[in-house]
Amino acid sequence: MSLSGFAFVGGSIERAAHLRDEPAALDALWPRARVLRLDAESRALDEGHLDAWGVGPAIAAERPAAAVFLGMAGEQACFALECLADGTPTCDLRRAGMQWPETEAALFAMAAGVLNWQRRSRHCGACGNSVETRQAGWSVRCPNCGLESYPRTDPAIIVAVSSGDRLLLGRQARWPAGRWSVVAGFVEPGESLEQTVAREVFEETAVRVRQVRYADSQPWPFPSALMLGFFAEADADASDPVAGDELEDARWFTREEVAAGLAASDAPSSGEPPPLAFSPRLSIARSLIEAWMAGGAATQR
Ligand SMILES: [Zn+2]
Repeated sequence: MSLSGFAFVGGSIERAAHLRDEPAALDALWPRARVLRLDAESRALDEGHLDAWGVGPAIAAERPAAAVFLGMAGEQACFALECLADGTPTCDLRRAGMQWPETEAALFAMAAGVLNWQRRSRHCGACGNSVETRQAGWSVRCPNCGLESYPRTDPAIIVAVSSGDRLLLGRQARWPAGRWSVVAGFVEPGESLEQTVAREVFEETAVRVRQVRYADSQPWPFPSALMLGFFAEADADASDPVAGDELEDARWFTREEVAAGLAASDAPSSGEPPPLAFSPRLSIARSLIEAWMAGGAATQR
């Protein structure tokens, strides 16, 4: 199945990866290119999705070596460039994910993912030498030992676990009062995704699951995750959840409680935190919960 209502997956962009190795072609595209201007922490210029973009020559007469080629939007090339000075008014990726048109938010996520990786890849992982950026930002190479590296994506699972008409939710101590969500965690080496789901749910809540079913995925470049969304059923004899190390609390919520939580999440704040609320309509977490409410999980059996 596919879910809807979350950011960074929409729109249409041709990545045109073959152009990453064609500097002359990229130079020729620069005079008409759209350039996403970012600061040193991958925040975009200003709050408006149109203001965030500049035209190539207005930023630099010639294509800067640091400009990351994002792809082609029709005949127009799109780049991202870290060029904003400290103190410039900016919009972070989370806000853009909620407010920008889907194609522009997806391009911003792509840019942030590449630039986040570049910042953590300035030295060779094998010999420690400084690396050179290649392929219009999409790889680095060590001139000393020749090791090449490419942008990393770290797979993580996120899963809506149900038991009959109840949904398993957990709460981290650092979250705002009333905030709960579904279980999530990173895939470890040597694991299948289904094994990660079973391990994470058991580690965080002591609940055993079965019938693990894939639903949808979302790039989550904070800084480099790919969220893989699942539904699962608790074992028929599952006992009450027990919060593991990463959670402050974990328990079952009824359909009525979840419905009230969804309503409270979209209502203007009244000052008092609601007993149950979810993250904004940005991440696949919220979409999994909404799909469970709508019966999406049940129809997949
Ligand atoms: Zn090296």
